[in-house]
Amino acid sequence: MDIFDLVVIGSGPAGRRAAVQAAKLGKSVLVVESRARVGGVSVHTGTIPSKTLRETVLNLSGWRERGFYGRSYRVKKEIDGDDLGMRLGKTLEHEIEVLEHQFQRNGVRTLAGTARFVDAHILEIECAAGETIRVRADRVVIAVGTAPYRPKTIPFDDEHVLDSDGLIATPRVPRSLTVIGAGVIGIEYATIFSALDVAVTLIEPRETFLDFIDREIIEDFVHQLRDRGVQIKLGAQVASVETDEKGWPVTTLADGRTVRTEMLLYAAGRIGATASLGLENCGLSTDSRGRLKVDPETFQTEIPHIYAAGDVIGFPSLASTSMEQGRIAACHAFDLPMPPAPKFFPYGIYAVPEISTIGLSEQEARAKGIACECGIARMRETSRGHIMGLDRGMMKMIFELGTRRLLGVHIIGEGATELIHIGQAVLNLGGTLDYFIENSFNYPTLAEAYKIAALDAWNRMPRAVAPPAEQEEVFDEVRRSLKKVA
Ligand SMILES: Cc1cc2nc3c(=O)[nH]c(=O)nc-3n(C[C@H](O)[C@H](O)[C@H](O)COP(=O)(O)OP(=O)(O)OC[C@H]3O[C@@H](n4cnc5c(N)ncnc54)[C@H](O)[C@@H]3O)c2cc1C
Repeated sequence: MDIFDLVVIGSGPAGRRAAVQAAKLGKSVLVVESRARVGGVSVHTGTIPSKTLRETVLNLSGWRERGFYGRSYRVKKEIDGDDLGMRLGKTLEHEIEVLEHQFQRNGVRTLAGTARFVDAHILEIECAAGETIRVRADRVVIAVGTAPYRPKTIPFDDEHVLDSDGLIATPRVPRSLTVIGAGVIGIEYATIFSALDVAVTLIEPRETFLDFIDREIIEDFVHQLRDRGVQIKLGAQVASVETDEKGWPVTTLADGRTVRTEMLLYAAGRIGATASLGLENCGLSTDSRGRLKVDPETFQTEIPHIYAAGDVIGFPSLASTSMEQGRIAACHAFDLPMPPAPKFFPYGIYAVPEISTIGLSEQEARAKGIACECGIARMRETSRGHIMGLDRGMMKMIFELGTRRLLGVHIIGEGATELIHIGQAVLNLGGTLDYFIENSFNYPTLAEAYKIAALDAWNRMPRAVAPPAEQEEVFDEVRRSLKKVA
């Protein structure tokens, strides 16, 4: 039986980072992946395909140019499933090649097969080639991710009624689309299809959605969606989904209303892919959604040599955070000291328009009793915005009144998911409003919105006396390291 320092189950962002990190520490590593090729949900059905689809839609529809040329502007008049699929295939192939090469370069062994625990150290792998083998692992990282939740009451047929995996498998452009679930995935697809002029109805049982985002940003977002005809039904319980004689889904709501569309995307949750892992054989169990509990700092499960990372441990279930969790798990497993994780991490929602956020929302700051002031910039106030024809998009920054410290940044509109990283750096370094006032930004850029929003807040803030001592220390440290580099 082969023995490995580390066996990683799953080759998505968490598994990949754990494996590469351990290999860089000189450990023998095996990655077991039940799909034919590496990459996980992130590459095959989730992050990369949905973002590729979005990019294709924005490019072919001419979405980004409509501020100038009007709502009827199109780059390609008729856009069909083949148009969407073509770019998808090429992008995914390239991503997978990069990952395969990364594993090879770092001496990580990969095996196509499905792993299950025989005991806490032995794993049985049912290989894609047919045979079954056993390996021994000193340490294990479970990075099996999640699968779409498919309730029995929804008549999935992978043609008219789909989950997010089915939608990507053979992309089509329906005339009308119902999306059940206003989580990140539902919102992204609802708005991507709406940008193609598909008539979209979004159904969400709760009265609000994306509650971790600042409400002012969500209000702007809802306004934009309604303005382009998206039907948003909040607080709407789904009583049943049935298909009619044409195979079209008909959704009946608890209050008797019905919604009939050509296609329905069910995007109301995902469950941990742990059912066939044989967890009972290694002494682990999951919650009702198939998720594992870990120590939030080390990512160890209750069995100290078994770690879990990525979507299988639940929130925030992002590729970006999964990668970090995998890396931290591998470092801890092989005794590499890790600095504490930064306090805040960014969220990116690749809807149309995109939204990105870091730190506290205004509502969170006020609920914590923090006295704060907000600054707003509209993208149309920047010269770059004029050049790009942006008539929408805004940035909101939140500062603590006394210390002038930045508490949060919230952006909606073009470039939001890139722009957020400026705010992230200042926030995690403990910076204040004065950073944005005193520094120059490239001109013309959308990043100038930071200065505009900061100046807007400055208008209402008490005047600064001196920079807080703590901030000076950070600046001194940066100056010292810059001198060293020079
Ligand atoms: C539609 C969609 C859009 C998304 N968009 C974004 C985005 O824009 N940004 C972002 O940061 N995140 C996004 N996400 C989330 C992101 O994809 C996940 O957070 C990320 O993929 C989780 O990584 P992971 O390593 O936990 O596992 P996954 O990527 O889920 O991979 C797990 C792998 O483990 C394999 N596996 C399962 N069981 C076994 C077994 N027993 N043996 C062997 N292999 C097994 C599976 O086949 C799978 O390939 C999106 C997700 C979806 C569904």
